[in-house]
Amino acid sequence: MPLKNFMTNPNLQPLVIIGGGPAGYTAAIYAARAGLSPVLYQGPQPGGQLTITGEVENYPGYPNGITGTAMMEDFRAQATRFGAVIKEGIVTKVDFSGYPHWLLLNNGAEVWAQSVIIAAGASAKWLGLPSEKKLYGKGVSACAVCDGFFFKNETVVVVGGGDTAAEESLYLSKLCKKVHLLVRKEAMRASKIMQERVFKQDNIQVWFDTAVQDIIGEEAVEAIQAIHVISQKTSTIAATGLFVAIGHQPNSAPFLPYLTVDNQGYIQVEAGKTATNIPGIFAAGDIQDPYYRQAVTAAGTGCMAALEAERFLHTPPDASFQKK
Ligand SMILES: Cc1cc2nc3c(=O)[nH]c(=O)nc-3n(C[C@H](O)[C@H](O)[C@H](O)COP(=O)(O)OP(=O)(O)OC[C@H]3O[C@@H](n4cnc5c(N)ncnc54)[C@H](O)[C@@H]3O)c2cc1C
Repeated sequence: MPLKNFMTNPNLQPLVIIGGGPAGYTAAIYAARAGLSPVLYQGPQPGGQLTITGEVENYPGYPNGITGTAMMEDFRAQATRFGAVIKEGIVTKVDFSGYPHWLLLNNGAEVWAQSVIIAAGASAKWLGLPSEKKLYGKGVSACAVCDGFFFKNETVVVVGGGDTAAEESLYLSKLCKKVHLLVRKEAMRASKIMQERVFKQDNIQVWFDTAVQDIIGEEAVEAIQAIHVISQKTSTIAATGLFVAIGHQPNSAPFLPYLTVDNQGYIQVEAGKTATNIPGIFAAGDIQDPYYRQAVTAAGTGCMAALEAERFLHTPPDASFQKK
């Protein structure tokens, strides 16, 4: 990209937002209202993770609950109302080695940006069973904090052996009558303290060497067919919910060559901020948050990223950071 064309380049945007989930749309609302003319690329899942869930009951402002899809349509409408431009397109490659920043889309288009907010989220890892897909949002979930309440006083199954599975089981044990925790290996990977808490909880039953073979139910989860991976003996566990807690994958692959990430690929940001290690690049939502992973926290960091981008655009980097 020849630098002499930089200021006159029609594809140069002040702010590009990557991702059309709660974080990206919130960033777009704030940035549009601040006059930054943001352009947002929605990627492979317009609306983000909430579009695969049913009812959202814990987002403030919706006292009667709302479907995830309708909520995301509200977010999007609010962003476009103030002039945010929302486009189809997946960012496949970037060059953050200098200024301005360069992005390549899946349709081959190139975009240059003075600042970028990465809000590409994280994807829950799933078991890959056809019945799991069929019963998404009908008893199958990947988030106990989000959906546990729907299973109050019921029996549920949690799958996984790490800290997330232990946390989800403990959270659900406070709401549900009984929690079956299926661990594929002969022991849990979770930290010792988390394991102790799980074993102490009377209403959690841990099944080792056990995997999910199938999820039974047509319109809702009715039971889980489990298989002992050594003896191959199957058992049917009556349950109305299945919580898959085998981890999340942050969608940070296109940005990895430039950004500092943790050992799981979550983008690392400055403490209490959304600034990454590259000036003008900010990260918001689940892509930088392995801990809270909620729509409201994603939206909160989307707001922070827009405010930080606005401040950055008032004082862009000096010539030493420009691409040669
Ligand atoms: C089944 C389920 C139920 C949930 N229920 C609740 C709930 O009830 N309440 C709650 O608060 N939270 C809930 N959550 C969590 C919540 O959905 C997430 O915390 C939130 O969506 C994270 O927002 P985000 O904007 O960071 O990312 P996401 O929602 O993951 O959105 C990411 C966006 O980035 C886009 N993208 C990805 N890669 C690229 C790319 N290369 N280029 C361009 N765009 C890209 C995607 O298309 C998508 O639009 C639930 C999650 C799941 C999986």
